[in-house]
Amino acid sequence: MNSIGVLTSGGDAPGMNAAVRAVVRKALFHGIKVYGIERGYAGLINNEIKEMSLGSVGDIIQRGGTILKTARSLEFKTYEGRLRAFQNLKNHGIEGLVVIGGDGSFQGALKLYEEFGVKVVGIPATIDNDIYGTDYSIGFDTTVNTVVDAINKIRDTAFSHERTFIVEVMGRNAGFIALEAGIAGGAESIIIPEIPYSIEEICQKLIKSHQRGKLHSIIIIAEGAGSGIKLGEVIKEKTGFETRVTILGHIQRGGSPSAFDRILASRMGAMAVDALREGISQGMMVAFEKGEYVLKPLETAFSGKKQIDLEYYRLADILSI
Ligand code: ATP
Repeated sequence: MNSIGVLTSGGDAPGMNAAVRAVVRKALFHGIKVYGIERGYAGLINNEIKEMSLGSVGDIIQRGGTILKTARSLEFKTYEGRLRAFQNLKNHGIEGLVVIGGDGSFQGALKLYEEFGVKVVGIPATIDNDIYGTDYSIGFDTTVNTVVDAINKIRDTAFSHERTFIVEVMGRNAGFIALEAGIAGGAESIIIPEIPYSIEEICQKLIKSHQRGKLHSIIIIAEGAGSGIKLGEVIKEKTGFETRVTILGHIQRGGSPSAFDRILASRMGAMAVDALREGISQGMMVAFEKGEYVLKPLETAFSGKKQIDLEYYRLADILSI
């Protein structure tokens, strides 16, 4: 393979830059030309393609977001859009494509392979960590750390004013961010979409805590499980406790990637390039599973729904008493 492309697509995630850097530098090390495609599939359709050098990925390993920018493209969901994208790849002589993004981006990549035979490798990057087939996606660890840092700060004021705080976190339809950050941040209750919950039980737990002298609490709710604001209103009504709600929002997407995410991104980026160099006979994805880096068919990402570890959830409940 003489020439490859790399793009970031879907929601941005801290560590995407480290992955781009790894792809570019590993490819150049092996004498392969690398093109950076800006704004994901939208840029591929609009021919926003530029050759990358060793220097073009300098000083980015520590930066959140993505220097290649990211976008969502409705046009790419049409055959005509993908045909234009393929023609642009062909015109640049790009033989393989590394797609850094979530499962939607992988769906698009798979179509490029199925319809036009483009060799594609997906690198999982989403703060939600909801991609099936990989234990970790780039960005998740940084986001969990950002949320834990926020919880620490909120805990200071919750303690001082003896208040109950509801913290709403991202995660789309999944509760991975809420669960990990809730455990690490010592939240009293963790509400996630995967597990039904009872407001009555949560209120009873709060009341019992109050009775034994614990006058401040933190409740984490994943956005996919409901509205933090509504939950705060109900809890205040049912318990009479002073309640505040913080919606962390987009600060969860930004920031310098953690060491874990930088290493994950560097290893996955290098592995994606090796897969293209060595030749693949179908669309593939890089995954991190049980401590190992592995290559899997891209379809794996759509073949199931990633499950919450129930033991982990029960432990969170036990520890939060
Ligand atoms: P995140 O999980 O962070 O949102 P994602 O990769 O799942 O990331 P999406 O918006 O679902 O984000 O997908 C990114 C882009 O991939 C879409 O804007 C679209 O261009 C392309 N895409 C998604 N699904 C398909 C599909 N079924 N066929 C072709 N292209 C798709």
